[in-house]
Amino acid sequence: MNQIDWKNLPFGYFKTDYNVRSYYRNGLWGEMEISSSEQITMHMAATCLHYGQEAFEGLKAFRGKDGKVRIFRMDENWKRMNNSARGIMMAEIPWELFHEAVITAVKLNQKYVPPYGEGASLYIRPLLIGTGPQVGVKPATEYLFMVFVGPVGPYFKEGFSPVKMEIVRDYHRAAPKGTGHIKVGGNYAASLVPAHRAHQDGYASVLFLDSAEGKYIDEAGPANFFGIKGNTYITPSSTSILPSITNKSLQALAKEIGMDVEVRPVPVEELAEFEEVGACGTAAVISPICSIIDRDTTHGYHYCKEGKVGTISSKLYTMLRAIQEGEEPDNWGWITILE
Ligand SMILES: *Cc1c(COP(=O)(O)O)cnc(C)c1O
Repeated sequence: MNQIDWKNLPFGYFKTDYNVRSYYRNGLWGEMEISSSEQITMHMAATCLHYGQEAFEGLKAFRGKDGKVRIFRMDENWKRMNNSARGIMMAEIPWELFHEAVITAVKLNQKYVPPYGEGASLYIRPLLIGTGPQVGVKPATEYLFMVFVGPVGPYFKEGFSPVKMEIVRDYHRAAPKGTGHIKVGGNYAASLVPAHRAHQDGYASVLFLDSAEGKYIDEAGPANFFGIKGNTYITPSSTSILPSITNKSLQALAKEIGMDVEVRPVPVEELAEFEEVGACGTAAVISPICSIIDRDTTHGYHYCKEGKVGTISSKLYTMLRAIQEGEEPDNWGWITILE
C-alpha cells in the first residue's frame, strides 16, 4: 500500500481491502460474506435500478488519542436504516447482522483508519438495495445489504471553516408526506441539479425551503440546519427533513452546557436574528456558515466576524469531536470501541 496522504484526503470513494455482504432470499437473511471485490452483479430488472428501492447510511470510525478505534452511534444508524427500509417496503436488517457487518468491515480495513490528529476518519457506508426482479411497480422479494468503508477528509473541503450557502426556491428536495425523512436514493437525485448550480456559483451547498409554502428552512443540502440565538440552539422541524444523528447529538451537548434547544419551524426571515448558523452531519460534524444569499432577492445574511467561526459552534464542534476521538469520556453510550 502506498503511503496515504491523510491530511489531504477528499470526501470521496477510496478503495479498501474488504467489504461485507448479506443476501435476503425466501424471507431470510443469509450468512454474512466477506468480499474483496468492488463489483456487484445483479438482475437487470432489480427494483433498485428501476423503482429506487435503495437506502444508505453514513457513519464514522475514528482513531482515538489512545490508538483505539471508535465507532460513533451505530445503533442510531441501524434504526434509521430500518426506518428507511420500512418507508420503501424493503426487508429490515436485524441488529446482529448490522452490528456484525459494520464491525467486520472496520476490523478488516483497520489499516485505513486514519491516525489520530489528522482531521480524517474512516467513513462507513451501509447500503440496502432491492435486487429481486420486478417489471410492475412492486417491492422486490430479494435484497442485498452491504457495508463498505474508506478513509475520508472533511466533507466540505474548507473543513471547520465558514462556508457560503444559497437559498433556492426553484427546486425542492422532498415533499411533505414524501420520502424526505428517510435516507433513500431518490431524495439525492432530486438535489443534484441545484447542488451543481450552487457549486458552480461558488457556494458550498444550497438551503432548501419547505416545499408546501416555501416559508421555512428545511435542510442545508445533505445536512441539517441549526441557528444560535442567545443561549438557544434552534433547528427546524419538518416532515421532510432527514433526522440527523449529528444534530441529535449536538442538541444533547447544547443542553449539557446549559443551552435551551428548540426544534420547530424556522421561517426564512428568522435568519436575520441568528448570531451563528451552521450545517451539521456525519461528514463534517458542523460546517459553520458565513453567509447565506437568497438567490431570488439577492438579499444576504452574514454571520462571520473577521472570518471567524462563532464561539458556540466552535464549542459544540470541539465537544463532539473530543468524544469521537476519545479525548473526553463518553457519558452517553455513543461509542463502540473496536475490540
Ligand atoms: C445523512 C443526512 C444528514 C445527516 O445525518 P447524520 O446522521 O448527522 O449524518 C442530513 N440530511 C440529509 C438529507 C442526509 O442525507
